Amino acid sequence: MIEPNEKTEEPAERLRRRVVVPAREGRAIRVTAGEAIRIIDLEGSQVGDLFAFVAADITEYASAEHTRVALSRLFPRVGEAFLTNRRRPVLRFERDDSPGHHDMLCAACDPTRYAALGVEGWHASCEENLRRAMAELGHAQIEVPQPINLFMHIPVAADGTLGWEPAASAPGDSVTLRAELDVVLVLSACPQDLNPINGSGPTSLAIEPLGARNLIAAG
Ligand SMILES: [Zn+2]
Repeated sequence: MIEPNEKTEEPAERLRRRVVVPAREGRAIRVTAGEAIRIIDLEGSQVGDLFAFVAADITEYASAEHTRVALSRLFPRVGEAFLTNRRRPVLRFERDDSPGHHDMLCAACDPTRYAALGVEGWHASCEENLRRAMAELGHAQIEVPQPINLFMHIPVAADGTLGWEPAASAPGDSVTLRAELDVVLVLSACPQDLNPINGSGPTSLAIEPLGARNLIAAG
């Protein structure tokens, strides 16, 4: 789904469009090196699982584990770059208009996770959202990287215990990322509703191009 961009202030920006990612779904966009995007939590307290594949070779992708090593940190900060599995900068964390909690520890939710949580039958998941979005772009076979979990608040206690806190983001909170390479980005509005990470329940996100050109939306 594409809708007119109404929030951008500069007149030149008004012609550009943003992609809404409905609750429990995923969307892919192509972003060229040098372009920035803003990812917006439209209703608040919603986790966004972000994946970035290098457009020229999707076996290279943003990797939380390689990023943690490069940063010597568990979680990202403004000014830092996310690295690929080949240790190249792929996205730069340019601006954070949110409380600043973004997880790099947790795998994407998937059917097995929901079965383990007691779900009987189908439940939407970030892994399926990723696979579907990439398949629509012609990539039927992909690795499923550990995502960058925007707005996801997973505090680590001194004894190593993980907390599953509701995302603290308010409606309209956002992060701004700039591509260092040509990438295919996939954003999943996490469908998790069996723990508190998405507050009172899954809601929608948006991807807003900033100074974008040649942007193609899929899904
Ligand atoms: Zn998820």
